[in-house]
Amino acid sequence: MIASHLVVPADITVSWADIAGLDAVIQELRESVVLPIQHKDLFKHSKLWQAPKGVLLHGPPGCGKTLIAKATAKEAGMRFINLDVAILTDKWYGESQKLTSAVFSLASRIEPCIIFIDEIDSFLRSRNMNDHEATAMMKTQFMMLWDGLSTNSNSTVIVMGATNRPQDLDKAIVRRMPAQFHISLPSETQRKDILKLILQSEEVSQDVDLNRLSKLTNGFSGSDLREMCRNASVYRMRQLITSRDPSAAALDRNNVRITMDDLLGSHL
Ligand code: ATP
Repeated sequence: MIASHLVVPADITVSWADIAGLDAVIQELRESVVLPIQHKDLFKHSKLWQAPKGVLLHGPPGCGKTLIAKATAKEAGMRFINLDVAILTDKWYGESQKLTSAVFSLASRIEPCIIFIDEIDSFLRSRNMNDHEATAMMKTQFMMLWDGLSTNSNSTVIVMGATNRPQDLDKAIVRRMPAQFHISLPSETQRKDILKLILQSEEVSQDVDLNRLSKLTNGFSGSDLREMCRNASVYRMRQLITSRDPSAAALDRNNVRITMDDLLGSHL
C-alpha cells in the first residue's frame, strides 16, 4: 500500500526546469534543503545550517506546491513518499497507527526521503473538542514520530506539507515546520514566464503575444494557464482533424501552430 506511493528520484519526472516564476522559492529551497542533503558529510560539521525536518508550502490551489515538492526531491536525490491522508484516516485506529509507524520507519530506511502530505490541514488541523479520540491519538503519534527525526541529527527525512488553509493547521504542527513558503497566484511577469515555459514545446504562431496574454490572465493559477494552453492545442488539432483534407492540412506546419485566437478562445 505504502510502496505504491513511493517514488525513487529517477522516476520523478519534474525538476526545477519545469517550474517558472518561482526562482526565489527555488533558491531558498536549494539552500535550506537541497545543499545540506546533497553534502551531508560536509554539513554534519555545522549545527547552525541543517536541513529542516519540516517544510510547509501554502497558497491557493494550482500554483505549483506539489510540483515544487517533487522537484526538490528530484534535485536533492531524495525518495518521495506521497502520503495519501485518506488512506490513513479511512483506516480504523489500530490500522492507521500501524500505517503511520510504517511510513516513518520506511522513510528512515530509505533516506534521504521526503514524506509529502498534500492538504496537510485535513489531517493535522487544530485539535478541538469534537475530535474523535482516535484522531487525536493519531495526531499525537504522528508528532512523536516526527520529533524522533529531530532528535536524530543524522536523519535526512523531511516532512513536507502543502495546504490552501494554513490558518487551520494545528499550532504544534506549524512549529514543527520552520521552513515556510507562500506560493501565491502568479503576478503578470510570473504568468508570462509560466506561459513561455508551457508553450516552449509547442508549435506556436508568430501572432501569439505573451505580454498581452499575461495581462489578460489576471487571477489565473499556473494550473489554469496550463489548461488554457491545452484547450488551445486541442482546439487547433480538432480544426485540423475536421478539416476536409486532414493529411494535407497536417502537413502544413502553419496549420498546426497554436494562434492567439486559439488561446483567447472561450477563456478571455
Ligand atoms: P493543489 O493545492 O490543488 O494541490 P498545487 O499548488 O499543488 O495545487 P500543482 O499540482 O503543483 O499545484 O500544479 C498543478 C499544475 O499546474 C502543475 O502540474 C503544472 O502543470 C502547473 N503549474 C502550476 N504552477 C506552475 C509553475 N509555477 N510553473 C510551471 N507550471 C506550473
